[in-house]
Amino acid sequence: MIDMRNVDNLEINKFEALAHRWWDPNSEFKPLHDINPLRVNYIAKTVNVAEKEILDIGCGGGILAESLAHFGANVTAIDLAEASLSVAKLHLLESKLDIDYRFTSAEDIADKEPERFDVVTCLEMLEHVPNPASIVSACFKLTKPGGFVFFSTLNRNPKSYLFAIIGAEYILKLLPRGTHEYSKFIKPSELADWCRESNLKLANQIGMGYNPLTKRYFLQKNLDVNYIACFQKPH
Ligand code: SAH
Repeated sequence: MIDMRNVDNLEINKFEALAHRWWDPNSEFKPLHDINPLRVNYIAKTVNVAEKEILDIGCGGGILAESLAHFGANVTAIDLAEASLSVAKLHLLESKLDIDYRFTSAEDIADKEPERFDVVTCLEMLEHVPNPASIVSACFKLTKPGGFVFFSTLNRNPKSYLFAIIGAEYILKLLPRGTHEYSKFIKPSELADWCRESNLKLANQIGMGYNPLTKRYFLQKNLDVNYIACFQKPH
């Protein structure tokens, strides 16, 4: 039995309904395709991922998992949307990559395979679960001493409401309405608090911005809206 306590079924259903479109670069998942090179390069610059054991939590159709595998990582990837996992597995036939996709929760795999991973990634997922601190604690358990955990999410402030909800969902229509719920956005200080409670040390963090004129994303110092944070488990 999978521990489903930290799962919001409405969230899972949203992703299930769109699952067949994961690999369509012009679909609802276009923003994830567009930011993917930026975040993969950021991860690969921070840690050498080749030959490393990596776990991707909330992998969806495998956009990030496949890029990490391209860099030579041994990737395990989990999600609780079955349709997304089916799409992810099917896509391996095309990409000819080898990724271990599993239907399981972060908390469950943490109980079964503690300290198995050099790197754990959990991108654009924390803002979709009822108890993000429980995911953070599972990430700590899953990581080898000295290993790294990457989170990305949306900051919570008036600017992020304007950009990530009004701008992205209503004006620019980059994402379907209702993709994000403002109250579930996470301030970097809140993420840092949960990590501190779990004994993960902040190593680095960076913001992501979007230029609506050029339609391009870029990394930036400003963490006001989208950000990625890297934490290390002490040796
Ligand atoms: N990490 C991917 C996908 C982000 S979309 C990327 O950045 O490209 C958020 C994903 O989290 C969806 O695939 C959704 O099914 C998954 N998800 C939501 N709640 C989850 C939970 N409790 N456990 C595992 N995955 C979850």
